[in-house]
Amino acid sequence: MTVAVVGAGMSGLSATHFLATQGADVETFEASSEPGGIVRSTTVDGHVVEHGPQRLRLSKPVESLVETLDLEDELIYGDDDQSLYGYYDGDLRPMPLSVRDAITTDLLSWRGKARVLLEPFTGGAKPDESVEAFLTRKFGEEVATRFAGPLYSGLYGTDADDMYVEYSLGKALDRFGVEGSLLVFMLKKLLEGVETPPIISFEDGLGRLPEAMYEAHAESIHPGTPVTDVRQDGEGFLVETDRETVAVETVVFTTPAPTTAALLAGVDDEAAAVVEQFSYNPLGVVHLHSDFDGTGHGFHVIDDGFRTDGSTWNASMLGRDGVYTSYVGGGDPAFLDADPSVIGRRAATEFETITGAQAEVLSVNVLRPGMPAYDRSWKALDDLSLPDGIEICSAFTSRAGLIGRIADGRKTASAILED
Ligand SMILES: Cc1cc2nc3c(=O)[nH]c(=O)nc-3n(C[C@H](O)[C@H](O)[C@H](O)COP(=O)(O)OP(=O)(O)OC[C@H]3O[C@@H](n4cnc5c(N)ncnc54)[C@H](O)[C@@H]3O)c2cc1C
Repeated sequence: MTVAVVGAGMSGLSATHFLATQGADVETFEASSEPGGIVRSTTVDGHVVEHGPQRLRLSKPVESLVETLDLEDELIYGDDDQSLYGYYDGDLRPMPLSVRDAITTDLLSWRGKARVLLEPFTGGAKPDESVEAFLTRKFGEEVATRFAGPLYSGLYGTDADDMYVEYSLGKALDRFGVEGSLLVFMLKKLLEGVETPPIISFEDGLGRLPEAMYEAHAESIHPGTPVTDVRQDGEGFLVETDRETVAVETVVFTTPAPTTAALLAGVDDEAAAVVEQFSYNPLGVVHLHSDFDGTGHGFHVIDDGFRTDGSTWNASMLGRDGVYTSYVGGGDPAFLDADPSVIGRRAATEFETITGAQAEVLSVNVLRPGMPAYDRSWKALDDLSLPDGIEICSAFTSRAGLIGRIADGRKTASAILED
């Protein structure tokens, strides 16, 4: 079996890893000089900073990859027993993610908290219902607009009102096995004492994971080699780069939708037109250095008028001395066209307003196309039909998280080899 994998972010590296370890002949092409895609760690002024994900959970698929790659000694563990905050009405208020915070937080009124108890009497998602409408119907307006909505939709930079439950939150709930009441499900898990896998990173940052995956399969992975064209060739395909043209039986696209659509057009116009419809939200990632001494995982901004969507407190969560990561741009993508110094200054000023502590800019990065939006354009999934021999293993057809990317890589490899 000969397979070409387009892209070596976590999706492409995972697909490569599971294909190669099961004996397939894989050639993986990566446009950038370094594999890893969105997962990238660098050191700025002696501080490890993350340009994509800030941390990971050591769930089973991650643990087994860490063991296979012999990375156990490089693991660092985060502090799980910390609050995540919502910045609401001019103050940082704990989000009700633990029993302690659910009882004590002033993010919600007592009336708002009591409304949650009605959730078991509400029905499941309705066709074409938005995430905001669904959460409001189930938990009441306060929970929907101050907590659950911003917490979920904030991950993607999309307004909860622009997301269909069916194509976003509903899929996540299905994966967790939630049938019926969410509240009853959570209470059951609490009583059963189900443990959440610990928060982890690596001493040199999360980028160590793709780096080790690349090292393990370096003979199959070609960095600095963008794929420029894919064409049908009999029952197989020709994959073209500036250096060579490779004939393969199967092509796995792991690139974001716009690149996948452009390359797919050489094989199947109709499928390419469908893939083109998925939209993304560009995202600014600003690393700050501050002597702010708050304890917590970070905050989501709920108040209006800010360019900052949220912040991860790497200092507190992972012991990364003085490092804070702000996400900017949600709600106003045009702001991300500004000069990086303007974006950085704005993020620092807003961090100072929110925390009361001074902040210096370490680095500014704008990610494009950015995060899959999982907005109303996701209805296009229903029309997506791929020709034989073409696979998509990318966040836009499945889930964005790293654990999802690893699982998708394994699933794609198994499907190809079973065929
Ligand atoms: C700011 C941010 C924070 C996040 N935080 C978390 C988190 O905390 N936890 C979590 O689990 N997930 C998180 N995610 C999501 C997760 O990081 C991504 O979904 C995941 O890394 C995407 O991996 P990928 O391989 O699918 O895509 P990408 O990382 O985008 O990889 C695609 C690759 O394709 C390459 N490419 C592009 N064009 C071509 C071409 N023509 N030929 C060959 N190669 C090409 C690109 O260079 C890139 O390397 C976060 C994402 C972002 C943006």
